[in-house]
Parts: sequence; structure tokens; C-alpha cells
Amino acid sequence: MRRLLLAVLLFSVTPITSGFAADRYQVEGYVLDNGLQLILKPGTEPGHVAIRLVVGVGFDDFSCADQETPHLLEHLMFSGLDARGEGGLEERMQALGGEWNAFTGNTDTTFVIEVPARNQRKALDLLLAALTQTRIDQQAMDTAKAIVTREDGGHSSHLQTWLDHQAFGHEASDQLATELGLKCGGRPSVDHLTLAQVNAVRSQWYAPNNMSLIVVGQLDRLLPAYLERAWGDLKAIDPVDHPDSTLVQRKAEQRRDLIQGWLGDSVRLHWYFIEPVLDDVPDAAYDLVQRYLDWTLYQDLRLAHGLAYGPNAQRDAFGDSGVLSLNADLDRNDIGEAERILATRLAQLKRDGMDEATFKRLKQAAVDHQAWAIQGDSGLADYYWGALGDYEDGHFANPADALRKVTLEEANEALKGVLGVTPYVRIEKPLLGYDELNQVLMVAAAVLVGLMIGGLLLARRRSRA
Ligand SMILES: [Zn+2]
Repeated sequence: MRRLLLAVLLFSVTPITSGFAADRYQVEGYVLDNGLQLILKPGTEPGHVAIRLVVGVGFDDFSCADQETPHLLEHLMFSGLDARGEGGLEERMQALGGEWNAFTGNTDTTFVIEVPARNQRKALDLLLAALTQTRIDQQAMDTAKAIVTREDGGHSSHLQTWLDHQAFGHEASDQLATELGLKCGGRPSVDHLTLAQVNAVRSQWYAPNNMSLIVVGQLDRLLPAYLERAWGDLKAIDPVDHPDSTLVQRKAEQRRDLIQGWLGDSVRLHWYFIEPVLDDVPDAAYDLVQRYLDWTLYQDLRLAHGLAYGPNAQRDAFGDSGVLSLNADLDRNDIGEAERILATRLAQLKRDGMDEATFKRLKQAAVDHQAWAIQGDSGLADYYWGALGDYEDGHFANPADALRKVTLEEANEALKGVLGVTPYVRIEKPLLGYDELNQVLMVAAAVLVGLMIGGLLLARRRSRA
């Protein structure tokens, strides 16, 4: 009965032109008897559906040495269903007019499909077949190992991909996270991983009660019945707890130069603040602190002093810790001045707090931004994927609500908490600047001339003797 009711709810919705943005956070969500969580949402673009299958296993479930195990399995899932192998599998998806990909992240492995609406059930069937019928042998394993080795960090979680798009300061922040023991250092080798290990991940984690299936777009009338029948058949497993992190926190140096490249005058300055966990301060307060500092940096370093073109403030996650960074692209000779300006400004903010009018303006802008932050059905499917932690009973938390509720007092408490700890400073710069290169060349030239004169004198003395 419940199922029937849901189907009615789903498809009696009037064409989704009005009210879509407003109820974007409301979905048809329910759990099948085998524990598979379904999130279905009629979209705005006719003729297309976006599918995300999120499996709750990722890098963080493994020790640093074995961290690539879920990534290997993700690749192996595309090995093929029959003698035609991975090419045959890909041909079947092409025949449906669809595209697919997969991503392994810190906490999940996600299969991403875009497909014409008319073939949505066939695409889901193909995905289901890949999950349940793919036979993994040593040859497939060797191929997957070679690919994973070559990828060199190519696959990453959704959040990470998004952060990579910011393309700023990521190497330095990864480096610091590794120093602090909050991330594994470098990419581990896959050579020692065995078929048995990969198969264990598959049987322990690839189960309906550890999966969420998200479908956004022009939903097929028969989709709920199909999902119940085909995907409802998957066997649930006894849930396993996610293992505790094996990382050990360490102390990092307060200040370090990171040498990148040989020659140049451009440097990047980063100040990293570990966000304190404060009982009565909501997470959205830190978002507003980040926006406030972002604007402050722009005013000070770009508008007032012209030292940096794109200074910015950014929030990152290092394991369970939040990190707020202040970043600036600078000329090598301006590092000292930029740091003095920053230190003066932060001291003033710590003393006086934020300017009320600026805070209100930036907060309103942050709230308004939510109206266009998610674009299209694929964007919405990606959003649901990233926000599964904020999902409950057919509803995703609306970030605009959380931002709207933050008071100036809470934001100031967050700001003072952040500024209360000494920042880690990292400066990315090439080995030599042009000035230094000049000096080195002059010294080298002087030494060379000295040697030549010495050689001549010696030669002359010898010829006289
Ligand atoms: Zn990969």
C-alpha cells in the first residue's frame, strides 16, 4: 500500500515548472525491504535522467597501505559481463545513449550515469548486472592495477573534484594535512593487493543496505515498481561498522617553504587555521566567517595595496577537522608586506569583531546564492549525493535556512575561535627568483673571470720560467 501511495505522490505532481526551486530539498525517498535507500526526484529537463548509485565504502575504510582497494574494485566493476569484456559493456551503454563513470572518494564509491529518459530502466538494469554479475579474475585485476597506477590521483570524491576546480593551494593543504597526520601521505601502491581483498570489499560493502540510489529527471511511470522488483531482489548483508581511522595525529611545523619549480617570482602564501569545535556555534557560522575573510582579503591585498589578484579564503576538511585557509598569489618580494597587512587586519578583527553592515550584506548574498548554486538535473543529483549526510525522511536540509539563522554574535564567536589559534604558514615558491638568479649568475661570472685571469697569469709565469 505504501508503495502505491508513493507512486501516486510521485506522478500526480503537476508539471514541475513552478515551485521546483522551492521544493528542491523535498524528494520522494523511501527504503526498500532489503535496505536500499531510494531518492527519486522529478526534474526540469525533459528526456533525461541522472542516476547516482552511492555505495558506502571509500578510502577512509582502509589503512594507508591498502587504501586503493575500493578504487580497484570500482574499476573492476567495469570489466564486463561476458566474453566481450569491458568493450562489450561499454557498447551496451552506448546503445542506450548513455554515459557512465565512477568515483572513489574518502567515504563512498559512486557510479554516475546520464541516460535518455526512455532508457532509464535499461540503464539501471545494466548497472545492476555490472554490480552482481561481473566476474573478477586475475587478468582483470592486473589491468585495473595498471590503470589505477597510471591515474595518478585522477579519481577523487565529488567534494574533492569541486575543490580541485578551485585549483588553488591544494598541494600545500594536502601537504599540511599529511604532516598533521590527518591524511595518508602520497598515493599508496596497488601491487600487493590481492583478488581476495577486493572480493572481500565487494561482499562486505556492496550490499543494498549500504547503498543509496538517486534518480533525478523525467522519471518513468513504472520506475518504483521496477526498482522494487529488480533492485529489491538484492540480498542485504549483516552491516559492518566502518573501522576507526588508523591515522595518528602529529605535530606539524608552524612555518615552511614548499619549493615548487626552479625559477620564478610568483609565490603563494597560505595561512591555515584549524577550526575549533564550539558547542553553541553552528557550522554555517564558519561559512560566513570564510565569506567575511574572503572579502576582507580582497579589500586589503587587492584593492588597497595591489599585492595580489585573487586572494581568497577557503574551507577544507582534513579528516574530521575543518580548516580555514587564507591564500594569496604574490610577488616574491611582497611576502613580508602581505603578512604584516594580514596580521594587522586579523588582530583588529579579533579585537573588534565583524562590521555589522558588511556581515549582513555578505550573509544575504550567501543566502541568495543558494537559489542558483545547483544547476540542472545532473547538478541536483550530484547535490543529493554530496548531501546524503543531511538527508532524512524525504527531506534534505536547506543550506539557506542554516545560513539565515546565523547571528552576528555566533559568527563573531566562530571568528574569534578561528583566530585564537596560531596559523600554520606555508609558502609555495620556485627555488630561485629572478633577482636571486641574477646574483647567482654574477657570482658565477666573477668566479669564471677570476679563474680565467688566474689561469692566464699561471700560464705566463710558466712560459717565462
Ligand atoms: Zn579510477
